[in-house]
Amino acid sequence: TATFRKSLQGKGLRNLSLKAIPTDFLVPIAQSFVGRAFDTQQLIICDDLSQSDEIDCVMLSSSGMGTCMDAPLMHGKACLGTLNVAHNQTHFYTKEQASQLQCIANWIALNIALHIQVMKMEHLAKTDDLTGIPNRREFMREIENRLSDYRTQGIKFHVAILDLDHFKKLNDKYGHDAGDKSLIHVVNTIKGHLRDYDLLARVGGEEFAIVLRRRSSQEALDTLETIRNALESTVMKHSGLEMPITASIGVTQVCSVDNSFEPLIKRADLALYKAKETGRNRVEINHEAQNKKR
Ligand code: GH3
Ligand code: MG
Ligand code: MG
Repeated sequence: TATFRKSLQGKGLRNLSLKAIPTDFLVPIAQSFVGRAFDTQQLIICDDLSQSDEIDCVMLSSSGMGTCMDAPLMHGKACLGTLNVAHNQTHFYTKEQASQLQCIANWIALNIALHIQVMKMEHLAKTDDLTGIPNRREFMREIENRLSDYRTQGIKFHVAILDLDHFKKLNDKYGHDAGDKSLIHVVNTIKGHLRDYDLLARVGGEEFAIVLRRRSSQEALDTLETIRNALESTVMKHSGLEMPITASIGVTQVCSVDNSFEPLIKRADLALYKAKETGRNRVEINHEAQNKKR
């Protein structure tokens, strides 16, 4: 402890009372004052920091602090953290100040808990339960962002709709659980072929939307063909039985007629329809809008 205290003083921290514990310093829960408040879920006061061996007390003391007080941030039975104050005089804090600190801590804890709840709900509202990828609603929001990037910065992209082939039959033959398992497998396979800007969302039961940023339609087609082939060639097993999985994919590139997501999705859907019509397990591209422009 003495060496640690000296090394802190050597760093000139003595006069920096506000930086006694740098914000990026991770105070361990074990053998620290703050950790004790967290563990015991009790407000505690250290009346004379120079007498303590706990790491945070040593740091505070080295910066000229005399006393400190930590209150747990309680939410129900869970401790979310602690609220800590220090003063340069020893034996400074009164019981009344302690209960004031606990009141503030309770109020902060409530707000943190509400914030966590809102974040969880936001996550749930935009995520597909089964696969953990963005759902239809989030996809629509994202595609509007991409369209705006296209209009303002000219960032082009392709949108593909991928629909699993004869998925109803797979469910009927192997059961709904096997169907669910293969949806997760499909998502993991597709993810393996995507880049940073790309996006994968579940927009229907066995239907996925893929946004790709590639330099040309040929590159987008190459990626989709790789995905199609990967799905066809990986063997999924359920109860010892092999389940064949293939997908049909329709794709189109964003262009100047796309004032909203509707024409864009419609073109990709038409291409998907053609892929289904012409035998499934294939990729079709829709150049219609680009052709019209010429
Ligand atoms: P097609 O090749 O024409 O697309 O045929 P399909 O059978 O895939 O298409 P259809 O629209 O007739 O059936 C889709 C099936 O997807 C019906 C439904 O049971 C199944 N499905 C949708 N959502 C889920 C899901 O979350 N889990 C499972 N296991 N099956 C699902
Ligand atoms: Mg289908
Ligand atoms: Mg479908």
